[in-house]
Amino acid sequence: MHKSLGNSVSPSELIPKYGADLVRLWVASSDYRVDVRVSDAIFGQLSETYRKIRNTARILLANLGDGGSDFDPARDQVAVADMLPLDRWILAKTNRLVRTCREAYDRYEFHTVYHGINDFCTVELSKLYIDITKDRLYCSGRTSRERRSAQTAMYRVLSAITRLLAPILAFTSNEIWGAMPHTPEERTDHVLLADMPAYDPVLEEDQTEETRFDRLFELRDDVMKALELARAEKTIGKSLEAKITVYTADKEADALLRSFDADTLRKIFIVSDCALADAMPDHTEAIEGAALAVKVEIAPGEKCDRCWMNSTETSADGEGKLCPRCRAVLGK
Ligand SMILES: [Zn+2]
Repeated sequence: MHKSLGNSVSPSELIPKYGADLVRLWVASSDYRVDVRVSDAIFGQLSETYRKIRNTARILLANLGDGGSDFDPARDQVAVADMLPLDRWILAKTNRLVRTCREAYDRYEFHTVYHGINDFCTVELSKLYIDITKDRLYCSGRTSRERRSAQTAMYRVLSAITRLLAPILAFTSNEIWGAMPHTPEERTDHVLLADMPAYDPVLEEDQTEETRFDRLFELRDDVMKALELARAEKTIGKSLEAKITVYTADKEADALLRSFDADTLRKIFIVSDCALADAMPDHTEAIEGAALAVKVEIAPGEKCDRCWMNSTETSADGEGKLCPRCRAVLGK
């Protein structure tokens, strides 16, 4: 913008078009040490980011139940030591995000906060955590430890990112704060009156588990690619019904995969069955550049009507076909 050219854009023109929060997000996303740019294309891109953040919050909120109707943090939280490893993994990542954002705020580097939260919503939350925990949240017993552990993590993650975003997305974050459940100790009248989340060094003491999952998630990309190919070739319909057999010549990757039990791997890869092979499975081609060779086929057995996974122990009654897990959850 140049005063002499008379081409400046006033916030009062932007706000009716995009909303005040988006204008604030644009300010925060701009690295003011270099020329600051503004255009419709930039605002289009920012709208995408804004929608992604909002949508991520919406999914987390939905999994906690409206206004705490399902999960009450005062009653239902699981202690960190009793949580499932994957839930501790997302807490460790959130803790690191808190540190990054707090340090960035202290240095007035708002664009670092913007990128940090955007990346966290895209990768750690949407691509991995939310996708993998879906089965546990929808299909495990309502008050089971697996489900409450995931909800505890989601409550803590949502609380942290909402408070981290509050100085930037002042309106949106307060809307989330008003809709999410709280403990009696929390300030609920306005998110801007709540304290910023604090970095917890205790969560960082032992990073062994976190590193193990990080490495597994790198390998997971290969599995996802193989499942995508199998879907495109119509070998399988949904990846949930797949049985995968995984082989790797890489000793370190093989040892890592074998350090997880089959049930954990099946859940991380979101398939019905996962086996590890000692040799290259028949009719499998390794994808170029991939560490894993993955054979994809339809898992034996029948599809469970409730969780959509195939099981050889699925049995039918008047209401439909259920796998043993779902029968147990429904008390049948
Ligand atoms: Zn089932």
